[in-house]
Amino acid sequence: MFDDGHSASSARHTHEQHLLLNASSDDVKQSSLADRAINPSVQDVCRLFQHWREKCYGKEDGLPLFQRLQLEVDTYNAKNSEQGGKAILQWYEKHSDMSDVEEEPKKKKRKRDHSDKPLIIAICTPLMSRAHKNICQAGELVFLDSSSSMDRFNTSIFIMSTHSSSSGIPLGVILTSDEREETIYNGLELLKSVMPENAFFGRSSRAGPQVFMTDDSIAERAALHKCWPHAVIFLCTFHFLQRLWTWLLDGKNKIDEEDRVLIINEVKTLVYERNETNITKLCDNLVTNTNIIKYPSFVKHFKILWDKRSAWAHCFRKNVLIRGNNTNNYAEAGIKILKEFVFSRVKAFNLVQMFTFIYDVMDLYYQKKLIAISNHRFDTYIALRFQGLISNKVLKENIAHVSNEYFQVRSCSDSNKYHTVDIKLGICTCEKGQDGSCCIHQAAVVQHFGCESFNFLCTQSPSSRLMIATIALGSGAINKLSYYASLHQQAK
Ligand SMILES: [Zn+2]
Repeated sequence: MFDDGHSASSARHTHEQHLLLNASSDDVKQSSLADRAINPSVQDVCRLFQHWREKCYGKEDGLPLFQRLQLEVDTYNAKNSEQGGKAILQWYEKHSDMSDVEEEPKKKKRKRDHSDKPLIIAICTPLMSRAHKNICQAGELVFLDSSSSMDRFNTSIFIMSTHSSSSGIPLGVILTSDEREETIYNGLELLKSVMPENAFFGRSSRAGPQVFMTDDSIAERAALHKCWPHAVIFLCTFHFLQRLWTWLLDGKNKIDEEDRVLIINEVKTLVYERNETNITKLCDNLVTNTNIIKYPSFVKHFKILWDKRSAWAHCFRKNVLIRGNNTNNYAEAGIKILKEFVFSRVKAFNLVQMFTFIYDVMDLYYQKKLIAISNHRFDTYIALRFQGLISNKVLKENIAHVSNEYFQVRSCSDSNKYHTVDIKLGICTCEKGQDGSCCIHQAAVVQHFGCESFNFLCTQSPSSRLMIATIALGSGAINKLSYYASLHQQAK
């Protein structure tokens, strides 16, 4: 029962329930519940559970735990390296020496201080490896987000992911014992070493993606910059504004309640402005606004924000292929999946269990999701957002196929205006499609001409469905195009 996910408590309750349901009479119910041979006591079940847990995951802490963890990592590598799955462990070491870990009292929690050599586990599973190779967005935009409190030692989990028409897909995971810049940097370096050769859609792990999107964590951003100095690092708009709200609400900054909305609105205007020249004018307006400059603390704070404007102002993202992603939402969704489906909202017993959750349960979740999409079974959101069902407004006669991947689509608002669509790159000359976001014009081309585009789920295309299944299952996926073809396509 423990193998099926029961805790000691739920296993005992379920077992007692079975005894009651299967009893032939009331007196059998009574006697079977009293018989310790068939109904173990609470203490018996707890001992059984502890025994099972130690057998599966080893000790809670100390040297035996690290030895077991190393064994798990080695076993994982031996089993998965051929399919591109790899993990690496950096042992946690006390500043003095490792014998401290061994000699600690069994029940005492290990306190980690900043002079210790941090624990790091970097993981790239076979599915993540295939995502690196097959999802072109992995070379364009990568999200990094972290969470903690998922085990009793507060180990941090960093998830690196990208977006695709099959929604967010993980590209690597790092577990660390703290969130210092140096630790994150070392974690990223270790992650690079376990990534496949063609990481980031062929750009290589050394080059990294073109753009990273993160929340406003100074340590995370500095570590990313040190690791991939040529990548652009953008701030998630939501986290940037949320942090500003926190600053405005902080009593020590002494911002009057009635002026907070005014300030946040002025900053928002700067964030969403699409023109680089205008943003300087808007900044001048802000710093001369008498209702704002009466707060010297904000003027000082704004100067710091303004200096890093290229990270948060949308006008600096115009020609970058972020495909409409100005927030870290895919990464946030990944953390939610981790907490809800992988950890089932409970803390892991130890690091071995955490490691197992990542390479096993998390991978299975994404495998299941991708298989569902390749089998044409997905929810309404994905259907509307990625299947191009937003294209109804554009009729086929308003689209001209210019050459190869180029199309001209008549504007919906101005019949004298045309937008050029490059369906291969997933770009359109309209306001929305310039950064590679999926727009109505690309959707119409996909729908009316049956073209393939990575901005959309091309469920009409058997080869696209095969590719999604291959990311999920690798060479084990059904490799027959006829399996992915609709009945109509098969009849042809
Ligand atoms: Zn467009």
